Amino acid sequence: MTCPTFVPATKAAQTMKRITVAKGDGIGPEIMDATLAIIKAAGAQLEVDEIEVGEKVYLSGNTAGIAKESWDTIRKNKIFLKAPITTPQGGGYKSLNVTTRKFLGLYSNIRPCRSLHPFVSTKHPVMDVVIVRENEEDLYAGIEHQQTDEVVQCLKLISRPGCEKIVRYAFEYAKQNGRKKVTCFTKDNIMKQTDGLFHQVFDEIAREYPMLENEHWIIDIGAAKMADTPEAFDVIVMPNLYGDVLSDVAAQITGSVGLAGSANIGEECAMFEAIHGSAPRRAGMDMANPSGLLQGAILMLAHIGQGDVAEKVQNAWLRTIEEGIHTYDIFKEGVSTKKVGTKAFAEAVIANLGKRPEKLQAVYFGGNAEMDLPKFKRKPARKKELQGVDLFVHWAGTDPDTIGGMMEGIAVPGTALNMITNRGIKVYPEGYPETFCTDHWRCRFKATEGNTFNKQHIMDLMKQALEKDIDVIKTENLYAFDGVRSYSLGQGQ
Ligand code: NAD
Repeated sequence: MTCPTFVPATKAAQTMKRITVAKGDGIGPEIMDATLAIIKAAGAQLEVDEIEVGEKVYLSGNTAGIAKESWDTIRKNKIFLKAPITTPQGGGYKSLNVTTRKFLGLYSNIRPCRSLHPFVSTKHPVMDVVIVRENEEDLYAGIEHQQTDEVVQCLKLISRPGCEKIVRYAFEYAKQNGRKKVTCFTKDNIMKQTDGLFHQVFDEIAREYPMLENEHWIIDIGAAKMADTPEAFDVIVMPNLYGDVLSDVAAQITGSVGLAGSANIGEECAMFEAIHGSAPRRAGMDMANPSGLLQGAILMLAHIGQGDVAEKVQNAWLRTIEEGIHTYDIFKEGVSTKKVGTKAFAEAVIANLGKRPEKLQAVYFGGNAEMDLPKFKRKPARKKELQGVDLFVHWAGTDPDTIGGMMEGIAVPGTALNMITNRGIKVYPEGYPETFCTDHWRCRFKATEGNTFNKQHIMDLMKQALEKDIDVIKTENLYAFDGVRSYSLGQGQ
C-alpha cells in the first residue's frame, strides 16, 4: 500500500526519499502514526510504502513473518522504518530482526544512549554515549558443533571487511555528528588473532581521522568504566557479542530503555527501529511512549541526508521532555508536569518544532550530508605459508603422557609432534598433573628442521591416525602470512 506523500510534488522533486514502513504489532501502529506525524510536521521529505510484517503474517503460515513482495519493497526503497512486532511463541517462527539484518547485510548497529537528567532518573546525569556494534559476524555466525562427548565449539569469525566497515562507520558517524572521540573495546590480550584484527584495523583507520581522538580499552575494564563513569566515553565501537551486551547496559543506565532507538546500517540498505518490543498489554490504549521509534526515525533522517529535519525533531523532543510532558512510563510526581497519551505527546512535540531545549543540551546533526562510506576494497593477497597442522582428537583418557605416546607413534617423515593442549593449555610435553583435562585434545604437528610442511603431510598424518584408530574430529591448518605466524601458541608454550 502506498501512503500519501508528505510534501507537495514540486518540492518533492528535489530531495524526496521513498522509504518502507511497517507498523508492526501491539503498540506498533500507534507509535508509528505518532512518529510519522511528527517528522511530517517537521518537513521530512518522504514518500512511504507500507508493508505488513509480524504476527498476522506469521500466523498466516509464513514462518519468516514477511511476504516476498514486502522483501522486494524493502530492497527497492533501501530505507526501512520498522515498528516492533510480536513473534508468536513456539512453532518455529524465525526472528524477523535477525533475518533482516543478515539478508540485507546490515553490518552496523548504532544505539545512542543519552541521559535526560533530571527529567528521567538516572545515576549518570551527564551520560551521552553512542554504541556502534558490529552486527553480522563474531560468534553470531552461528557455526556450532559438538565434537566430543564433553566438548562443544562455537566458531568466532572476524573478517577484515567486517572490521573495516564497522570501524569506518564509527569514525564517519563521529565526524558527521560532531563527536570528539572514538573508543574501541576488544579482548585482544587473549584473542590475539580475532580481536587482534579488530584492534589493528581500528588503529589503521583511526590514522585517517586525525581530527578525532581515539583510544582502545580491554573490554572488561572498559565495560566496568562505562557502567561507572560513562561520561568518559563518546562513541564506542566493538565486535558483535560485546556490543550486544553493552548496548543494553548503556541504554539501561541512562534510565530510559524505553526511549532508545537504533539504526541497522548496511552498504545498500538500512533499518531503523525502537529498541523495545510491541508491549501487547498496552496496545490500542493510546498510552505508549513513541519516543523510542521517534529516535529511530531521527537516526534515519540523519542517515538519508535530512539532518536539518532530524535536528529540528530531536530538539523539539528534548524540549517536550524537559517541559515535563511525559507518557505514563516516565511520568514522575514532582518532576513531570503533565501525563499524556501517545497522540497528545506527539502533538506536544509538534508544537515545539523550531524550539530548542533550555536545560538539556541541544543536538547538532552536521547538516544534510549523507554519510560517505566507501565500499570495501580487497587488499592484494599476502604470501601464505603452511607451517603445520593441529589434529583435534577425541580421547577419553586423562593422562597427557599416554596420548602423547600415541601421537608420537604417528611417524610421517619431515614432521614431528610439537605439543598437545587441552582446552588451549599445553599438557604435553611437560604438563602439570594439576591441569584438568577433558576428552578434547589438540595435537600440533610441524615440519622438522630443514623441511617444509605441505598438504600431503596432513593426508599422511590423517592416514596413520586412522590406521591406529585415533579419533581425529577435525583439523586446523597453521599458516604464516607474509612470514608472520598467524595462529596462537598453546597457553604455557
Ligand atoms: P516489551 O519491550 O514489549 O515490553 C517490556 C515492558 O516495557 C512492558 O512493561 C511494556 O509495557 C513496556 N514498554 C515497552 N515499550 C513501551 C513504550 N513504547 N511505552 C511504554 N511502555 C513500553 O518487551 P516484551 O514484553 O518482552 O515483548 C513483547 C513482544 O515484543 C514479544 O512478542 C517480543 O518478541 C516482541 N519484541 C519485539 C522487538 C522488535 O520487534 N524489535 C523487540 C523486543 C521484543
